[in-house]
Amino acid sequence: MIKLCQENLCTGCWGCYDVCPKDAISMVPRSPMGDRHPVIDRKKCIECHLCENVCPILNPPKCKSPENSFASWANNSQIHIKSASGGIGSVLAKHFLNQGGVVYGCTSEGAEIRHIRIADLDEYVRIQGSKYVQSSIGKIYCQIKQDLIAGRRVLFIGTPCQVAALRKYLKKDYEQLLMVDLICHGVPSQYLFESHIRHIAGNKPVTTVKFRSEDGFCLNIISGSQSIYKNYVWKDRYTDVYFTAFLKSYTFRESCYTCPYAKSERVSDITIGDFWGLDKDIIKNYDIKDGVSVILPITPKGNGIIEELNSEISLVARPVEEAITGNSQLRHPSRKSFGCKIFRFFMSKGLSLKQSLYLSDSLLIPAYKLYDRIKK
Ligand SMILES: Cc1cc2nc3c(=O)[nH]c(=O)nc-3n(C[C@H](O)[C@H](O)[C@H](O)COP(=O)(O)OP(=O)(O)OC[C@H]3O[C@@H](n4cnc5c(N)ncnc54)[C@H](O)[C@@H]3O)c2cc1C
Repeated sequence: MIKLCQENLCTGCWGCYDVCPKDAISMVPRSPMGDRHPVIDRKKCIECHLCENVCPILNPPKCKSPENSFASWANNSQIHIKSASGGIGSVLAKHFLNQGGVVYGCTSEGAEIRHIRIADLDEYVRIQGSKYVQSSIGKIYCQIKQDLIAGRRVLFIGTPCQVAALRKYLKKDYEQLLMVDLICHGVPSQYLFESHIRHIAGNKPVTTVKFRSEDGFCLNIISGSQSIYKNYVWKDRYTDVYFTAFLKSYTFRESCYTCPYAKSERVSDITIGDFWGLDKDIIKNYDIKDGVSVILPITPKGNGIIEELNSEISLVARPVEEAITGNSQLRHPSRKSFGCKIFRFFMSKGLSLKQSLYLSDSLLIPAYKLYDRIKK
C-alpha cells in the first residue's frame, strides 16, 4: 500500500505527480487555505512506490553549508530595477539563454502562477520578479530530464522544496544543470491568490500580476497593457488583504511553518535572496539603483557560475554569518504566531480572507493592549 508523506508536512512540490508512470496522481486543492495535495487514483496505481521514493520529505536530499557569501546586484540598471531584488535570477537566466541553454522559472499568466520553460533570450522577462504564491510545477521535472538527456544546459530557479524535489526526481547529478533556490519564508496557495485577483478584477481579463515595484512591495494587476489596480503595501497597509495576510505570515502552506529547508545548509547549487542585515556602510560608495541580493554559492558548480557572471554583476564578499544573522529564513522557518492561529481558525469556519484578517486583528489588538497594561 502506497503511503505518501503526512499531509501537514507535504510541501506540494509535485515530485510524486511528475514521477508517476500511470498518471495516477492529481494535485487537488484542500480547504480552507486551498493548498494542493496529491491524491492517488487507486484504480490506476500499480504500487511501484516511485512516488514514495521521490518524496523529499520521506527521503530528504543532503544539504550543504555555504562557504562564501556575496552582496550582489546586476550591472545593467534596467534588469536591476525590474527584478525582485538585485536581479541575479534574471542575469543568470539571460546568461544561460545567451549560451543556447534553457531556463525553467516561475511566471504569472493572468492570475495563474506556474513554472515554465523558456529558450528565447527575449523571454527572460516572463520569469523576472517574485510571485508571492506557490507556483504550479505540472510536468516540469519530466521536461527538465528530457532537456538534460538531450545534452542541453539547463537552469532551474525555484523554492528550496522544488529544488529538493527536482534532485530526488533526477536521482543523479548532471554537470550541465544548475539549480538555484530562493530564500523563502512561505507560499500561499494559487486558490487564495486567484480568488483575491478575481474579486478585484471582476470580469476584466487579467494579463499579468506583479508583486514589487521600484518603491517596494506592491500588488499591481495588469489588464492588456493597463494597470487596473495598484496597491503599495507599506504605504496603505490594510487596503490589500492578500498582501497584508501574506506579510503577516498568516496564509502560508501548513508545511512552510515546519519547512526543513529554512536553514543555513542549502539544497541547491546557489541560493539567492534579499540581503537583509547587510552593513550599509559597505555599499555606500556604489551607485545602486535598487535592492541588493545575497548570493550563497553552495557547490563548486555554483562557485564556477559566479565567476562566469563576473562582468554582469557587482560582487562584494561578505561574511556568511552576516547573511545568516540578517535573514531569519536562513535560521528557522516562519513562526505560526497566535494571530496566525486565530486567523486560520476563522478561515476553517468558512469566513473570507478579509473577514478572518479583520476579526483576528480585532481580537489581537485589545489582547496586546491588555497584556501591555498587565506588564506595566
Ligand atoms: C514566495 C517567496 C518568498 C520569499 N521570501 C524571501 C525571504 O523571506 N527572504 C529573502 O531574502 N528572500 C525571499 N524571497 C526571494 C526574493 O523575493 C527574490 O526572489 C530573490 O531575492 C531573487 O531576487 P532577484 O532580483 O535575483 O530575482 P529576479 O531576477 O527578479 O528573478 C526572480 C526569480 O524567482 C523565481 N520565482 C519568482 N516567484 C517564484 C515562486 N513563487 N516560486 C518559485 N520561484 C519563483 C523566478 O523564476 C525568477 O527566476 C522570496 C521569494 C518568493 C517567491
